[in-house]
Amino acid sequence: MAEVAGVTVDTGHWIGGERVGSAAAFTDLSPIDEQPLAEVARGGPVEVDAAVAAASRAFPAWARTSREDRARALHAIADGVDEHVEELARVETADNGALIRSHRRGVMPRVAHNFRFFADWLLRLGHDDFETRGHRNHVDWDPAGVCALITPWNAPLMLATWKVAPALAAGNTVVLKPAEWSPLTASLLAGIAAEAGLPDGVLNVVQGTGAEAGAALVAHPDVRRISFTGSVPTARSISAAAAPNLTPLSLELGGKSPLLVFADADLDLAVDLAVEQYDNAGQVCLAATRLLVDASIAEEFTERFLDRAGRLVQGDPREEGTDIGPQIHRRHFERVDGFVRRALGDGARALLGGGPNTDLGGLYYRPTLVAEAPEGSEILTEEVFGPVLTLQTFETEEQAVAMANGTRFGLAATLATGDPERAARVTGRLAAGTVWVNCFFVRDLRAPFGGSRQSGVGREGGDWSFDFYCDVKNTVMAPWEK
Ligand code: NAD
Repeated sequence: MAEVAGVTVDTGHWIGGERVGSAAAFTDLSPIDEQPLAEVARGGPVEVDAAVAAASRAFPAWARTSREDRARALHAIADGVDEHVEELARVETADNGALIRSHRRGVMPRVAHNFRFFADWLLRLGHDDFETRGHRNHVDWDPAGVCALITPWNAPLMLATWKVAPALAAGNTVVLKPAEWSPLTASLLAGIAAEAGLPDGVLNVVQGTGAEAGAALVAHPDVRRISFTGSVPTARSISAAAAPNLTPLSLELGGKSPLLVFADADLDLAVDLAVEQYDNAGQVCLAATRLLVDASIAEEFTERFLDRAGRLVQGDPREEGTDIGPQIHRRHFERVDGFVRRALGDGARALLGGGPNTDLGGLYYRPTLVAEAPEGSEILTEEVFGPVLTLQTFETEEQAVAMANGTRFGLAATLATGDPERAARVTGRLAAGTVWVNCFFVRDLRAPFGGSRQSGVGREGGDWSFDFYCDVKNTVMAPWEK
C-alpha cells in the first residue's frame, strides 16, 4: 500500500481477483522530485504463471458472455473511471510527471472513452453473410484467449486501456504488465474494474520489470496475443520470445516523425504545430520532432517559433499553468542530454535550450531546438523522446519528401501547407501510419493506428483492433436439404 498524491494505491499484483504480493519489490520514483513514491511488487515467472493461469480459467466464461453483457461491463468500468478522474490524474502526474491539466481534461476522459468506444463498437461489429453457389459464408470474431499487454511509461493508463478495452470487448482475458517507471494507475484500474463487477481473472495486472515480468509473460505458451507499445529494441526481444509459440504480435513502436512546413503554409498555424511538439516534455511517440521547413521562409518561421516556444512555462506538472514538466527518470534524462551534447559537439547549434534547466534542477530539460546538425547524424535519425526538436531546410517538394522519409521509422508525418493539391501529392508519398495535414494529434478510435517500417507491426483501432484480438472464422454452410 502507498499513499500517493492523497490517494491510497495497492501496489501488489492483481491476479484472479485478488491482491497478491511478491517477496521482492522495486522502488517507484516520482519524476517531479526523484523521491520514492511507492514500493511496488516485483513479479517474475511465478506471478506471470499465476496470472496467465487465472486468465485461462476465466476465459471460457467471459468468451461466452453475450456481447451485450460484455459491453455493459465495459461501460461500468468507464463509469468507474469517470468517478475517479481526479484521483487517477493526481496519481498519474505524480508517477510519470505529465501535466495534471491534460490528465484531468484530456487523458482520463479519454481512458473512459476507450472503454465506451470499444463496448459500442463490439455491438455493431459484424460482416454481412455472403453466398457461394448457394453456400452461406458467415464470419465470426472469436475471442483469441489470454492477451499479454505490455505498455510504456509515457502515457500509462491511456495506452494500457487502448489495449485492455478492445481485448476485453472481444471476449479475451488479459494480463497487463505496466511499465516499471509508472506502474501505479494500472493498479488503480484493477480496483475500478473489480468494483464495476468484472469477473475475477478477466483482467490481471502483474507488476515488475521488463526483464523479469515482461519477458516471462511474452514467452508464455498459453498467451494467444501480445500487444506491445514501447521501443524498437524491446520489440525485437519480444518478437524473438514470441517466435517459438508463433504468438501473434501487435507492435506500436517509436518514431522520428517530420513536420513539413511549405512556403504556402499559414505560418502561425505552422508555428503552433511545431511548438505543440514539446507536449508531454517531448515524450510522445507521435511527436513531429524534425522540423523540415522551406528555406525561403525558414528565417521568419524560426523567429516566430523561438518567440512562441520561449514563452512556454516549465515547472511542476501539478500546477495548472505549467506547459512542460520533467523527464520521466534520471536514466532517460541523461539519455536525452547525451543526444544533445553529442549533436552540439558535432557542430550543431542550439537555437533554443540545449541542456538541463538549471534553475529548476532535477529532471527538467529545457525545450530545445537544434539546427545545423550534420546530415545523417543521430540527432536527425534516432528517436530522442525528449523536448528536443531539430530544424532542417529544403529547397524543393521532392527534397522535402525525401527528407521526411529519410529515417528507418514511419509512425506519423505532419504537413503545413495552403495548397490542397500539394497536400494530396505529398501525403501520397509519405511512409507513415498517420499523416496530419494542417493539424496534429486529431485521433479517432475508428481509425487505424500504427506505424510503418520500424515504427510498428499491425494496426489497432476500430475493426483493426478486433481483427487483431480475435480469431476471425469463416463458416461455409451448404444449403440444407428441404
Ligand atoms: P520500453 O521498450 O523500454 O518498455 C516498454 C515496456 O516493455 C515496459 O513495460 C517494459 O517493462 C517492457 N519490457 C522491457 N523489456 C521487455 C522484455 N524483454 N520483454 C517484455 N517486456 C519488456 O519502452 P519505454 O521506454 O517504456 O517507452 C518509450 C518507447 O515507447 C518510445 O520508443 C516510444 O516511441 C514508444 N511508444 C510508442 C507508442 C506508439 O503508439 N507507437 C506510444 C507510446 C510510446
